[in-house]
Amino acid sequence: MTLREKMHRELQLKTLFDQARDHAFNYAETADQRTVFPSAQAIADLDQFVEQLPRHSGDAAAILQQLHQYGSPATVAQTGGRYFGFVNGGILPVTLATRWLTDFWDQNAALYVMSPITSRLEEICERWLCELFGLPDETAASFVSGTSTAILCGLAAARFRLLHNQGWDFNQRGHNGAPPLRVIAHRETHSAVVKAIGLLGFGLDNIEWVDCDSQGRIVPEKMPQLDARCIVLLQAGNVNSGAFDPFEAICERANQVGAWVHIDGAFGLWAGGTQRLAHLTKGMNRAHSWSVDGHKTLNMPYDSGILLCRDRNALMMALQASAAYLTVSDYRDGMHYTPEMSRRARAVELWVALKYLGREGIDELVYGLHQRAKQFADELQAAGFEIMNEVVFNQVVVRPTNNDDATGKILQAIQASGECWVGGSVWHGKKVIRISVCSWVTTPDDVSRSVQAFVNARKAVCGK
Ligand SMILES: *Cc1c(COP(=O)(O)O)cnc(C)c1O
Repeated sequence: MTLREKMHRELQLKTLFDQARDHAFNYAETADQRTVFPSAQAIADLDQFVEQLPRHSGDAAAILQQLHQYGSPATVAQTGGRYFGFVNGGILPVTLATRWLTDFWDQNAALYVMSPITSRLEEICERWLCELFGLPDETAASFVSGTSTAILCGLAAARFRLLHNQGWDFNQRGHNGAPPLRVIAHRETHSAVVKAIGLLGFGLDNIEWVDCDSQGRIVPEKMPQLDARCIVLLQAGNVNSGAFDPFEAICERANQVGAWVHIDGAFGLWAGGTQRLAHLTKGMNRAHSWSVDGHKTLNMPYDSGILLCRDRNALMMALQASAAYLTVSDYRDGMHYTPEMSRRARAVELWVALKYLGREGIDELVYGLHQRAKQFADELQAAGFEIMNEVVFNQVVVRPTNNDDATGKILQAIQASGECWVGGSVWHGKKVIRISVCSWVTTPDDVSRSVQAFVNARKAVCGK
């Protein structure tokens, strides 16, 4: 049998897909009985994958079997309710099912002619997101892999526009001899923002850092004088504390002088999608670009970032590409909004998520994360732990002891318990544990059980 015949058979018989489904359901059903972080045995068993690159085509069923047998136990059980690391979200069942369906479509989202359905759903998502977040009607959306790329797109659009306003065509003339732009950033800016600044050639040494307050919000009084050459980087959701910057005052000033404001709201922008938390994002609609993830707070599958930009022209100019074989259509061609050409049809899952949840569902999901975070903080505090932040959104910063060494050991003990997973950080010079409630699955019981893991770990390390 040739390889092609073999693959035809696999498609026809479909047993491979039944097998994948069985493995997937088995995974889902047993994930909650496992430790959140894989056991030492599961990690050691990863040696099963170490071999020479095979010479012959393998047996598909056996490959899937190996992957499930040794791969599944070595995953981090992130789909359960007790994973609180980074800002990793859970996954909405309907978006997971959509992923299965659309994997069979295998669409390329680059051009309308490659996928009319994706093009239309990108347009609809763009409208819906503007409505949800109350952004200006003209706002354009780029559907990219994650917030890191979204920030890159936002800053590229900003650079194009601000230099264009100075009479400089960045695409043609580049950096050499260009009027210098100023980058004004929050002292606690996310590393993805800093990376984008470096990658785009602004130079990290040129960043004008602005101090923030005890909660990690930028202090407007500490802002330098702005002008038409400034890109101001604010955040909706400090990665440690979850704090939101005072957008209204700063956007007002920026708009007066023609500066550009980008708001990084990878997980926090969704607060603007619920009335009950809308006070956090007040004034954000006066910025110029916004980066946000679908795969964090909205609980979509990974590889779902979005850049929103009120200056469609600047965005498209910054990311343009042309070649004779690329059809320019009257429809939305997604690649003109993104650095990539070939791209997964991720807007399909976003459309499903938004249609399934609706405004009420988004409110329930997002506010629910906030409520669980509040519960976490309240129960930890009652158990004698110091909470370092005002829990305004889904983040809790905990300082279990005032000894950094012991804090590190407590963190390790919590992680090793397998009861839950939380990460460490350094905040305002102190070692802390950061909790991020990001999954729809997390119940009040999951929170209480995790608090118990904190208490046990402290006891093991400090004896009380
Ligand atoms: C996660 C995160 C990013 C990076 O997003 P990716 O989707 O991982 O690329 C940027 N900013 C903030 C505030 C984040 O939480």
